[in-house]
Amino acid sequence: MQILEKAPAKINLSLDVLHKREDGFHEVEMVMTTIDLADRIELTYKPDGKIQVESESRFVPNDERNLAYRAAKLLKDRYRVAHGVKIFIEKNIPVAAGLAGGSSDAAAVLRGLNRLWGLNASMKELAELGAEIGSDVSFCVYGGTALATGRGEKIQHLPAPPPCWVVLAKPSVGVSTHSIYQALSLENAFHPDTAAMVEALRTDSFERICSEVGNTLEAVTVGLHAEVDQIKEQMRQGGADAVLMSGSGPTVFSLVAQDARAQRIYNSLKGFCAEVYMVRMLGYRETT
Ligand code: ATP
Repeated sequence: MQILEKAPAKINLSLDVLHKREDGFHEVEMVMTTIDLADRIELTYKPDGKIQVESESRFVPNDERNLAYRAAKLLKDRYRVAHGVKIFIEKNIPVAAGLAGGSSDAAAVLRGLNRLWGLNASMKELAELGAEIGSDVSFCVYGGTALATGRGEKIQHLPAPPPCWVVLAKPSVGVSTHSIYQALSLENAFHPDTAAMVEALRTDSFERICSEVGNTLEAVTVGLHAEVDQIKEQMRQGGADAVLMSGSGPTVFSLVAQDARAQRIYNSLKGFCAEVYMVRMLGYRETT
């Protein structure tokens, strides 16, 4: 028996870091939405009880360090499952890019194995389990659009943004989220207005969404990788409606309403950056 799951990337429409907690995590407020750039996860039943993971990407480990493997192991242990699975990951989301590719793979494995192994866990149970793997996994279990608080695991669903193009460009550097948080100094840091972004989504205002995008981590990553600022400038010059770095970066995205303008920005970045994508927003949420 085989099950296919789509694992979409997310972008941060806003990301605010409030303070560092005593447990070492940062308290955040993030508005996230899924986009139509996705890994494809193939789950094949294994009767021998073993978990096996494979991907063709040289940037992703094919062993127990893979977040998809960790998701399967956690589910197997917690629900005392005797069955096994072979996980194949078709990796389309850039790795260590601020797009939560690994978290989305883990979330897709939780959803898919819930079906393959017939566990009948609710989405809420899967999201709670996901939080044990990583802060972005809970959001990725549901997908859609949400405000994530706490260390990212507390999810409040929000309406999807109006449909538009998302043009993404990833500079050739990989960025570790941990190192960006370490370099962050919260004194004098920029803080986006999360409440205003939530209101913009609730009132379905594309213009307000565009004017409220903001990311506390952006200045830190720009300080380490000047390419991020160069890409932002090029997108602005191309007439993007909004431009922002996603997560801890280094991927930069622009929101663009007009087809021709999005295509122009995409074409101009193609010669400049190795990884460029032009995709649609995904407004919907997982319901199974
Ligand atoms: P976030 O936006 O949640 O911070 P990211 O996009 O910056 O995530 P990922 O692509 O999820 O980062 O990868 C981060 C690290 O996790 C990489 O160093 C990678 O080797 C490791 N990793 C483990 N499993 C996976 C996986 N299935 N896909 C991608 N990376 C994985």
